[in-house]
Amino acid sequence: MVSPKHVCVIGAGISGLAAAKAFSTRGHHVTIVERSGDLGGVWEPARSYPDVQTQSPKELYRYTDRAMPDDYPEWPTGPQVHAYLADYAKSFGLDRMLRLNTAVAGMARRADGRPGWSLALTAKDGATAKEDFDFVAICTGQFNEPRELHCPGEDGFLAQGGQIMHSSTYSDASLAKGRRVVVLGGSKSATDIAVNAVKSGAREVTIVMREPVWRIPYFIGGLVNFKRILYIRAQEEMFPGWGASATARLALRLAAPLIWANWRGLESLLKAQLKLNRCKMVPAERIEDGVNCSVPIATPGFYPMVADGRIKAVFGSFDHYDGDSIVMSGGERIGADVAVLAIGYKLGVPFLPAAYQQKLVDADGQYRLYRLIANPDLPELGFVGFNSSFCTVLCADLAANWLVRYADGQLANQPTAQAMRDNIEMMLHFKRVERPAAGVYGGLCVAPYHYRHFDELMADIGTNEQKRGGLAGHFQPPNADDYAKFLASAPEYRATG
Ligand SMILES: Cc1cc2nc3c(=O)[nH]c(=O)nc-3n(C[C@H](O)[C@H](O)[C@H](O)COP(=O)(O)OP(=O)(O)OC[C@H]3O[C@@H](n4cnc5c(N)ncnc54)[C@H](O)[C@@H]3O)c2cc1C
Repeated sequence: MVSPKHVCVIGAGISGLAAAKAFSTRGHHVTIVERSGDLGGVWEPARSYPDVQTQSPKELYRYTDRAMPDDYPEWPTGPQVHAYLADYAKSFGLDRMLRLNTAVAGMARRADGRPGWSLALTAKDGATAKEDFDFVAICTGQFNEPRELHCPGEDGFLAQGGQIMHSSTYSDASLAKGRRVVVLGGSKSATDIAVNAVKSGAREVTIVMREPVWRIPYFIGGLVNFKRILYIRAQEEMFPGWGASATARLALRLAAPLIWANWRGLESLLKAQLKLNRCKMVPAERIEDGVNCSVPIATPGFYPMVADGRIKAVFGSFDHYDGDSIVMSGGERIGADVAVLAIGYKLGVPFLPAAYQQKLVDADGQYRLYRLIANPDLPELGFVGFNSSFCTVLCADLAANWLVRYADGQLANQPTAQAMRDNIEMMLHFKRVERPAAGVYGGLCVAPYHYRHFDELMADIGTNEQKRGGLAGHFQPPNADDYAKFLASAPEYRATG
């Protein structure tokens, strides 16, 4: 018998909505607190840069119980994703659980001695109130606290009329018109903004990045949607995974020449298709060594604009500002009116008490989370959306379904605290020693191991149905409708009392 809990879901992005849906479906009383004035998280219109669209194809960027509308394009725009989320919240009554303009400023164990947490909630007017919850789902994402970069000479650059902004505040394309725009960063946001600045009539556009990285076009070879190559089980199986048996290791060793040829073939295709030699943008790293959540999609138009000089690419970083110029680490001087810092976000859960932060994150920044969702030393607490990937909505949905069962003691494989700690150590070893690329973003990225991760979650949940689809199934990307069926095949229960 499971008693209903009062659950606080922190954050109303994709993950918060998934958590609210999963907990409320099981009979829990849910409050979603969101510090912003709207739901959607990174897809909130006020936070989106112009022309933003998903990197993930639409059927890989959806909840298991709601497809994106048929008339959406393969890669929906930011406003379309926001509309999908708003509609999802309304359809399942999640909007009625939502408290907007309410930030979690701190949390502590409950003072009344009962299990759970007391949250300090701050309203828009600054008033803070304490509220107790039996369980907390942290769904604050990885893209909330913009990283900062301050270089010498910044004050002088600003004083003579220059502008410096983080990519998350580049929301008005007109500010590029007629100006010299310098974008710092090599992520998809950086290339999106550089391309947008060219299209918006910027006088000059420069992109400054550390080094060239592999970028994946929406259609590999101009023909095949990348989901049919990069999201499939067959491709995933070419990466050595964690906890591999001796037989699996031997199989990988035997297949090594074929695997090597597969990656060299893909590199050659990308070099030819994107004209990387002509752009002087051939990465030094082997493609297979760097596959993780930071592999960006190639913004359409980016390489052609680099090739014909509309975007100037410089390798390095900002060293200092000098009058109306930015001097690069390699000494090059670039005239600038606007500097856009597409340098990412700080990871973290700042409102978690220091003693618990230490249990959550190791000194090297690696997160200690079992299945990237829970830590046995952080009671009545779970994380949704910390298992980020190339199909984050599906990840969040499955994590939310896992978490509610974990919180209710209803997982088919309900782990002991010791089993969780052992598994966390094994995974940390994998990320630190066996595959360092898996350690990016604090180790909170499941790509390229989507299927492996989902298989573990489904086995824990106890789904009866888990079709792999035979040989053909190895060449299919994850299917959200299938996961809806798998979830429906797990033992049912509801909190009552
Ligand atoms: C431009 C862009 C494009 C992307 N495209 C893709 C894609 O195509 N495919 C993909 O898989 N991923 C993509 N991502 C990654 C994206 O972050 C995830 O897909 C997903 O949107 C994350 O959702 P989330 O709910 O976990 O986090 P968020 O969307 O960041 O939501 C977290 C919410 O928590 C709130 N919050 C934070 N702190 C507090 C607090 N203290 N109190 C109250 N509320 C708080 C925030 O205001 C925010 O609304 C993209 C990211 C960006 C920035």
